[in-house]
Amino acid sequence: MSPLTLITAQTEEKLLAFLTEHGHTKFRAQQVLDWVWRKRVTTFDAMSNLPPALKNLLAEHFRFHTPEIVEIHGSADTTRKFLTKMEDGSLVESVIIPAAVAENGEKSERVTLCVSSQVGCAFGCKFCASGLLGLKRHLTTGEIIGQILSAETIAEKRVNNIVFMGMGEPLSNFDNLADALEIITSHRGLEIGARHITISTSGFVPGLKKLAAYPRQIRLAVSLHGATDEVRDQIMPVNKKWPLSQLIPALEEWSRGRNQMPTLEYILIRDINDSPKDASHLVRIAKRLHAKVNLIPYNTVEGLPWKRPTEERCRSFRDAVHKARIPVTMRYEKGHDINAACGQLRLRKEQEKNGSTPR
Ligand code: SAH
Ligand code: SF4
Repeated sequence: MSPLTLITAQTEEKLLAFLTEHGHTKFRAQQVLDWVWRKRVTTFDAMSNLPPALKNLLAEHFRFHTPEIVEIHGSADTTRKFLTKMEDGSLVESVIIPAAVAENGEKSERVTLCVSSQVGCAFGCKFCASGLLGLKRHLTTGEIIGQILSAETIAEKRVNNIVFMGMGEPLSNFDNLADALEIITSHRGLEIGARHITISTSGFVPGLKKLAAYPRQIRLAVSLHGATDEVRDQIMPVNKKWPLSQLIPALEEWSRGRNQMPTLEYILIRDINDSPKDASHLVRIAKRLHAKVNLIPYNTVEGLPWKRPTEERCRSFRDAVHKARIPVTMRYEKGHDINAACGQLRLRKEQEKNGSTPR
């Protein structure tokens, strides 16, 4: 791996600091960013309005690189999942979710990308494929941004909505995440509005506190999945360290500072969290947080014992939440066939590499 840092991982602030240290002006930093993000050049040589000495300086300190796309699953108008290989061989998965047809029948221009923040995950939720192999490492800012660039190559469209719902716990990789957010939202970067970005967390309270102090209006989703400590303790080890008595006040603190409400993500798992009583516990928390609820019937993972409840049971859970006047949606992951749930594609590939086939 080349020691030079990626030019696509430089926030405006960092690039400006570098260039002024080397005797260049703010205007030059703006020109460089314009080449990288508006004109999308991939060499310093192509930056034709820069003096040769500046092009050389950039080439001595930075480089361009896009990760190798190793697999693409799905087709253009469905959810497409792809795997990219990092320079150390680590595999990262991302998902392109195309625009849904709007109620008026028009197709919106929305292209959502689900990105990973780490290779694997240290949090080890019992139902999740990403946690099965543990954490290998954080993704760098450049690797987070690289997923967006790869997706735009595959989709032949600009991504305009980003969810940090791939592998990893984004809030435990806060510094790299924060730089990536700057590049994504900056108008001298990818220029995607903060309200089109969602960070999902399993309830890593120290990271939530940092996010509460973060100045941009990024959306927040919380993988609650259980509305009592008893249920969460059973499936999410994070809850042992940061139980609901800490998580809920941290979410309230986040909301207070910004007048935004979190979304509560709730996977429905048969006989674990799908009873009417579970629904009423969930309603209580959603009311307290003024939160929306997103129900996701569980996607089975090869080798794990958890099952999706029957459709009828899922519907009556949703109806109970709806009756309590909580805004609720239920989202079916349609991609069992392309290993749609978080981390499953990489898991399969790693197992193939190690010679153990999951099927
Ligand atoms: N680590 C963060 C970000 C990952 S988001 C978090 O947990 O929030 C990935 C989402 O997919 C999480 O809500 C996770 O709980 C959910 N998920 C994981 N495995 C799943 C499965 N098999 N079926 C449905 N959802 C799953
Ligand atoms: Fe990690 Fe999120 Fe999966 Fe839990 S659900 S193991 S926090 S990626």
